[in-house]
Amino acid sequence: MREAWQHFYGTAFWQRRRMLQLRMHPLCKFCAADGIVTPATHVDHVKPHKGNWNLFVLGELQSLCASCHNSRKQHEERIGFDIAVDADGWPTDPHHPANRHR
Ligand SMILES: [Zn+2]
Repeated sequence: MREAWQHFYGTAFWQRRRMLQLRMHPLCKFCAADGIVTPATHVDHVKPHKGNWNLFVLGELQSLCASCHNSRKQHEERIGFDIAVDADGWPTDPHHPANRHR
């Protein structure tokens, strides 16, 4: 799926930030959590920036391997909403099924 903000990833800024992230965190974070050492090839925003340049530039990053990156992206695209919850444990995304009939 290509988004309108896809060009963010073609900027010199991103090339540099991505390179620095992989240099500081060369291993896949999700695999490491399972005790597996896998070289990271993808740099992912922990919180989806959804085209917000400030979040894209300043948002926290995580290094992932291709397999973890793809499964994460496919999961988000398949369910079509954000699974983040507020302090009460209620989903914050208005597209979440729990919020559709309120
Ligand atoms: Zn991984």
